[in-house]
Amino acid sequence: MNRQISDTRYESMVYRRCGNSGIKLPAISLGLWHNFGHVNVYENSKDLIYTAFNNGITHFDLANNYGPPPGSAEEVFGKILKEDFKNHRDEMIISSKAGYTMWDGPYGDWGSKKYLVSSLDQSLKRMKLDYVDIFYHHRPDPETPLEETMNALSLIVQQGKALYVGISNYQAAEADKAIKILKDNGTPCLIHQPKYSMFERWVENGLMDVLSNNGVGCIPFSPLAQGLLTDKYLHGIPADSRVATSGVFLNERNITPAKIEVISKLNDVAKSRNQKLAHMALSWILKDERVTSVLIGASKPEQITDSIKALDNIEFSESELRVIDEILKS
Ligand code: NDP
Repeated sequence: MNRQISDTRYESMVYRRCGNSGIKLPAISLGLWHNFGHVNVYENSKDLIYTAFNNGITHFDLANNYGPPPGSAEEVFGKILKEDFKNHRDEMIISSKAGYTMWDGPYGDWGSKKYLVSSLDQSLKRMKLDYVDIFYHHRPDPETPLEETMNALSLIVQQGKALYVGISNYQAAEADKAIKILKDNGTPCLIHQPKYSMFERWVENGLMDVLSNNGVGCIPFSPLAQGLLTDKYLHGIPADSRVATSGVFLNERNITPAKIEVISKLNDVAKSRNQKLAHMALSWILKDERVTSVLIGASKPEQITDSIKALDNIEFSESELRVIDEILKS
């Protein structure tokens, strides 16, 4: 692969404002949950970053625990940045998170100030960065007072270790509370990162309203349902797919005949729109202007260039939406 930074990298990507903030994000962002661990082929990981960056994808999403092993995605990304992108740091929005299990004992999980502050320090070391652009609390903690967790995020901004903060996997009511605390602290919540796809529509029942009412951006993760919302599983399980190679978060049990029937019907709708199902799944999320960016994963560089084609058509007719709703209800 040609590893040159392209002069035309900003020519076709669409950038959307993140809530009421000064930040714009690419309509498609790249997540490093899979395919960037020490278990993966380093040269392929580097090609993925080149392909994204050269197509205007300026936002790269990480977390302390991405790998495997946990922490290794940040190490790999830090190495790629240092080797090839050190003059382009100011063109990137890099995020990390803490909230899931990271190290043994009572201080390496959930939402204490102790965990968040020390975990971000570790993330910065692994990525060899002075600061991240966005730091998230990765999931709500039912035991730690919300004030402690949000105050920790505010402290991190005040210390200059993150420019902005966000929350992930918070339900509507708890997101509303968190957003108010961060606002009172003078460190507004930039963005929420929920799971949202044609197969997981919970954000439509309140969360999207909370975010837009508060001027907070939204970046849905797993918009392709980890690959299910593509045509790849229609005729069996390809050997190079996430189900075959990883199988932890998506496995054969998720690919039932009933699911394949739904995917096949959606695939027909996509064809009628001159799209592939992957394109339609992404454009279906981006049709809502309250969505800032969709956060995709990719195992191959071609998947990134392919997914970007979703931006060619993000308009849906009423009847297309009705047909899709009917299929999803079946
Ligand atoms: P997706 O739903 O986009 O699934 C990505 C997978 O779909 C790829 O690895 C690839 O699978 C397949 N794929 C991607 N593009 C195409 C294409 N054009 N055609 C065919 N197949 C394609 O997202 P992820 O589940 O990977 O999540 C994306 C990001 O979201 C993560 O990296 C992470 O940053 C974030 N995330 C956040 C979470 C949170 O709790 N905040 C939780 C989970 C994810 P294959 O390997 O089969 O080729």
